[in-house]
Amino acid sequence: MEKIAAYLENVKKIAIAGHVHPDGDCVGSCMGLYLYLTENFPGLDVEVYLEEPREVFSFLKDFDQIRSSHDADASFDLLILLDISSRDRVGVVQDLIDSTGKVLCLDHHRTNEGAYTWFYNDPEASSTAEVVYRFLDPEKISEKCAEALYMGIAHDTGIFQYQSCSPETMCVAASLMKKGIPYTWIIDRTYYQKSYAENQILGRALMESFLFFDGKVIVSVIRERTMKFFGVTPKDMDGIVSQLRNTIGVEVAVFLYETEWLEYKVSMRSKDYIDVSRIAAVFGGGGHVRAAGCTVQGMHRDVINAIARELDIQFREHDAQMREENDEKDDERNSECL
Ligand code: 5GP
Ligand code: MN
Repeated sequence: MEKIAAYLENVKKIAIAGHVHPDGDCVGSCMGLYLYLTENFPGLDVEVYLEEPREVFSFLKDFDQIRSSHDADASFDLLILLDISSRDRVGVVQDLIDSTGKVLCLDHHRTNEGAYTWFYNDPEASSTAEVVYRFLDPEKISEKCAEALYMGIAHDTGIFQYQSCSPETMCVAASLMKKGIPYTWIIDRTYYQKSYAENQILGRALMESFLFFDGKVIVSVIRERTMKFFGVTPKDMDGIVSQLRNTIGVEVAVFLYETEWLEYKVSMRSKDYIDVSRIAAVFGGGGHVRAAGCTVQGMHRDVINAIARELDIQFREHDAQMREENDEKDDERNSECL
């Protein structure tokens, strides 16, 4: 793998972009790379496009440089897509994918099918921020750039908790910490702190949640009228599905919110064995094995039933696998006794 400088030959104008409804990893990796390029390659003209990132990310250096739309005549030598998960989720610069000669895509979603000039996708990586780090020269990473990348890694690992957080991830995080960043402050401010309205809608979602599949699945739905009542937007509901997933005994958490009449955004998280990216893919979405999403049309009961059918398939597969493993163990024990 080449460092980022190898992709900059004959390149003057660069656009960096992430996915729609950008999360901490998306904002962190885009801003980390933006700061690295602007700080180390002063001759380059770099722009960063993200769909209205949350206010909590505004401490990042040059946050005010983020653009949410491009000029009609904008053209670039290189488009860098980060954390997008699939081509149709680029959002604000969707049209630039076809009109830009060279496209470099760095990602960690196995549902990303590629078809870019250069594609580096590591589904095993904790975050796109960790993937971006591999393309940078550690010596040239400034404190401000490190803040953004560290935030990306921290968010996508659920603060260094998920299985995707490897020893390698911790080494990268450590090298970013050594740049002198305020790491506890970043985690508290951008991950744990919630506004009053965010806590209210979280409380409502938890109150209205229900269990099924013998307590292995938890579901909660927020209707548009409820969002209006609490004065919240989708950005304010980011942590809800993770909180649902923390329920003891639960393998899968499913959170739905209404995006428009008869349309729901679905977020799914699993703990140990259900592959939620497989379920999301059935509905045209994508993501990771333990965290995935999609948008589904229909009444919310029908959406939940459709997801339940997919869950049922995987629970049955898992049960069958468990039975097979137990039978094998029994056979081994029996042969030892003979
Ligand atoms: P979230 O549930 O937080 O929206 O997303 C969880 C993961 O699934 C993220 O990695 C996100 O990029 C991915 N994801 C969410 N919704 C979609 C979707 O509609 N399409 C695709 N391809 N990926 C999605
Ligand atoms: Mn990510």
